[in-house]
Amino acid sequence: MGSTDADTEDSAATRLAHLERYYREHPVTGPTEGRSPTVKPAAPLNLDTIDHTHASVAEIADHTYRINPAAGPLPNSAAAVYDWAREHTAHADDTGRLQLAIIEYRQYLEHAVRAGDHTIVCRHRCPKCRTFGLMWQPQTQRAACTNRRCVTRDGTTTLHTLARLAHAHVVARETIRQARAT
Ligand SMILES: [Zn+2]
Repeated sequence: MGSTDADTEDSAATRLAHLERYYREHPVTGPTEGRSPTVKPAAPLNLDTIDHTHASVAEIADHTYRINPAAGPLPNSAAAVYDWAREHTAHADDTGRLQLAIIEYRQYLEHAVRAGDHTIVCRHRCPKCRTFGLMWQPQTQRAACTNRRCVTRDGTTTLHTLARLAHAHVVARETIRQARAT
């Protein structure tokens, strides 16, 4: 209905569906084979991905039931949980829907990073200095700002969690949307 933007094609749902598909097609190696130093050899990545999927769905479900205890059963497909959540929180207040949007966007980033698409963070401005130039840092699981003037008080690189990026992105998107609506 015109309220959607570019993330109709590239969304948390499509990213989660991709992870699930990849898991089924590559049950032994997983999506980041040989690429991510964060992969622990003792932990089979496919089990990690199943856990990740379950945890993601559970988080969305918890938030939805908190807003709307009568939301009913979850959809069969994990990737369908985002549409389900939006549908059942459509009449919630702005705060509840904004929180859901932030969680969904954070999960979108998490799914992408898990699939090895670390460049996803480069598409976002640094929430602190507002410039582009974020790089994913696997060892800290944070996005590092490469702007040399954007450092912490003790002179170290500014690092952002995916939650921080998601919050900044969704709040900015909502601000633009509200400005257009008035
Ligand atoms: Zn910065």
